Amino acid sequence: MFCHAAQVMGYRVAVLDPDADSPAGAVADRHLRAAYTDEAALDELAALCEAVTTEFENVPAESLRRLAAAGRRVGPAADAVAVTQDRIAEKTFVASLGIPVAPHIAVRSVEDLAAPPAHLFPGILKLARLGYDGKGQALVDSADAAREAFVRFGSAPCVLEARLPLAYEISVVVARGFDGETAAFPVSRNEHRGGILAVSCAPAPALPERVADEVARMGRAIALGLDYHGVLCVEFFVLEDGSLVVNEMAPRPHNSGHYTIEACASSQFAQQARVLAGLPLGAPAALAPSVMLNVLGDVWFENGVRREPDWAAVVRVPGACLHLYGKREPRVGRKMGHVTCVAPTLAQAWSAARDVGQALGIGLDDQAPA
Ligand code: ADP
Ligand code: MG
Repeated sequence: MFCHAAQVMGYRVAVLDPDADSPAGAVADRHLRAAYTDEAALDELAALCEAVTTEFENVPAESLRRLAAAGRRVGPAADAVAVTQDRIAEKTFVASLGIPVAPHIAVRSVEDLAAPPAHLFPGILKLARLGYDGKGQALVDSADAAREAFVRFGSAPCVLEARLPLAYEISVVVARGFDGETAAFPVSRNEHRGGILAVSCAPAPALPERVADEVARMGRAIALGLDYHGVLCVEFFVLEDGSLVVNEMAPRPHNSGHYTIEACASSQFAQQARVLAGLPLGAPAALAPSVMLNVLGDVWFENGVRREPDWAAVVRVPGACLHLYGKREPRVGRKMGHVTCVAPTLAQAWSAARDVGQALGIGLDDQAPA
């Protein structure tokens, strides 16, 4: 999606991705098939490109450092990405800005779980690095369960955090240019199922303006604190008492910001291209309400049997925009694409999303969240 946005603006894009079937590689003008740490490939990328970004937060920070050392404009920079790659560093950094995070402890050895504070239970043990879509997480209700999960995760560094009473989840995508200019997209309200984003509504319905402003302010403060350049997503929990807690950041355009492709004048991907090109940021306001449904590999399977989903029924829904990423193998829990429904009112967008969901076997409530 970034390649598309940059190409629409007349740029050419080279992608470094080891996967021969890489969706971005298939769309890019050049696909360098090599490991993210391959020095020759990184040098080739530096020779080809004036500016470099990452779409994947687990690219080694060292690789970004090498590209910057070659004189390329790199956004986000290695140091900013490094913070977001490690939940311990991430929570420490966010808390240092005076922004609330979930109560937690860092777990680097089983001794750190000898006597964990009682207020962290019921809790979640999360691998500090390389987790995504709820992977590398275990619900733990006791210190024994936490120790057992830590060992099961290979005793790699983790955080143990309290499971919080969530009213709902929201996120904000913020862009920050190399001149320090920032733009925050409207906040989206996100429903996760099994730790994976399932549905996003934007602009978040029934969000008090005060909360939306606070979320944008915190997003900007995080971008500034990281000296971040490019597009950044910050995920928040809204607790039952209405208070805000930062869950985590993603140093890239984010699934919950995919709605910006159809619903905003300048999408999160166009914004990323603008930052890299050193251009002014685009207007982030939403032109219409939208509901986005994630399409997971699950929808290819009916009673365990693989068959093609009914795409005709999806695209027949007025206002439904289908995106499939061209991943070869649908697997349960794998993000294969998404559908954004844009309509003059949220109720209409929700109703369209329900129709799409029905075609794909994804259940949605009767009414949009309020
Ligand atoms: P990932 O990197 O896989 O996205 P997250 O930390 O964002 O991991 O967790 C995925 C989802 O799990 C969250 O969006 C939320 O729904 C739920 N979750 C995570 N941490 C907590 C928590 N401390 N309390 C309650 N729910 C949580
Ligand atoms: Mg998350």
